[in-house]
Amino acid sequence: MVPQGSRAELEFGGPLGAAALLLLLPATMFHLLLVARSGPARLLGPPPYLPELEELWSPWALLLCLTWLGLQATLYLLPARKVAEGQELKDKSRLSYPINGFQALVLTALLVGLGVLAGLPLSALPEMLLPLAFAATLIAFIFSLLLYLKALVAPASALAPGGNSGNPIYDFFLGRELNPRICSFDFKYFCELRPGLIGWVLINLALLMQEAELRGSPSLAMWLVNGFQLLYVGDALWHEEAVLTTMDIIHDGFGFMLAFGDLAWVPFTYSLQAQFLLYHPEPLGLPLASVICLINAVGYYIFRGANSQKNTFRKNPSDPRVAATGRRLLVSGWWGMVRHPNYLGDLIMALAWSLPCGVSHLLPYFYLLYFTALLVHREARDEQQCLRKYGLAWHAYCRRVPYRIVPYIY
Ligand code: NDP
Repeated sequence: MVPQGSRAELEFGGPLGAAALLLLLPATMFHLLLVARSGPARLLGPPPYLPELEELWSPWALLLCLTWLGLQATLYLLPARKVAEGQELKDKSRLSYPINGFQALVLTALLVGLGVLAGLPLSALPEMLLPLAFAATLIAFIFSLLLYLKALVAPASALAPGGNSGNPIYDFFLGRELNPRICSFDFKYFCELRPGLIGWVLINLALLMQEAELRGSPSLAMWLVNGFQLLYVGDALWHEEAVLTTMDIIHDGFGFMLAFGDLAWVPFTYSLQAQFLLYHPEPLGLPLASVICLINAVGYYIFRGANSQKNTFRKNPSDPRVAATGRRLLVSGWWGMVRHPNYLGDLIMALAWSLPCGVSHLLPYFYLLYFTALLVHREARDEQQCLRKYGLAWHAYCRRVPYRIVPYIY
């Protein structure tokens, strides 16, 4: 018998909300893929056409996705520069995680580079985005089903705080087991940063190469989008250990929400700006490009500073670099300005990723709009968790730092 969550504790609108998201998330992803390549590129409104199954389904695309996952899994299993310990679990144990994500990125880049030199037609990838996204969605559904079944035989101590309501749709969506593993292979940790994030920058690169083939050279706008997003992915993998203190790892079970998000949503929708630029070239002058670079740099500075401060504090609360802090909560530095400074930096970067696409279309701003909604919702979920965990100390922190994400606004 699984622990039953009370109705009040259900997130995402309960089973109905989860059922809606199960359909809505893949539908939105396919809508964006179709619209990005259409002439009008209208975010709102119907897609230009509804693709036939033959356009979506390709055994080659499925094989390519599985090969990609196999490659990333192999790189995950290579010796790591460090093995880190996760947060303490319910049963007081801690899991070990290999820190070799950046190494996986570099090795993938080397392999892809060698492949391209040997004639690998990387620039053909953009033509395959629809069947690849379909294959990734299929994999995410099947994988989530297997994870759901695996959780049926997991001990109660291995289950996530949410995702165990007893409603199969809700639990399938949210994820039942906190850290599903086979031996030391941790599925959630593996999916969180590797196949999706590295896949995202690979798709970006393929779009850049196809633009070079079509127009003689990649545009400045395409370089900026590729550069900014590579910095983001490189940073996430370089600071891979930081993922061990995020909500996804500590709190959320591994189900469809994260599996689809990591394996399909991230690579195929986060590359939307580069997709848009391939079909809708945008001239960009150096002065405006410099301003956009500055915006990205400011966002990155806040994002990195905030995340690093929190990690330093979690490792050692008396570290002089995060002095003048609360005993359990960081109340100085970026965390003394707003309660989620890392979200603020992330949102500023999201704006910088869209600006190279100009202001003629709303479509490239989808990421900024979606990400704002995601982070506002995520922040509210986190507040609830922190309130449960820290009680009065969290109230005191909220009084001291009244704004959630944007100073004096929100
Ligand atoms: P956080 O890394 O901010 O983690 C939240 C946790 O941090 C809280 O549950 C609490 O956990 C701890 N915390 C909160 N306030 C304080 C404080 N004042 N002092 C010390 N610890 C505190 O959030 P996320 O896991 O949501 O995000 C991690 C990063 O990933 C962020 O930079 C975010 O922007 C990014 N992100 C990116 C996404 C994308 O798609 N690009 C999606 C989601 C996130 P505890 O006390 O248990 O340590």
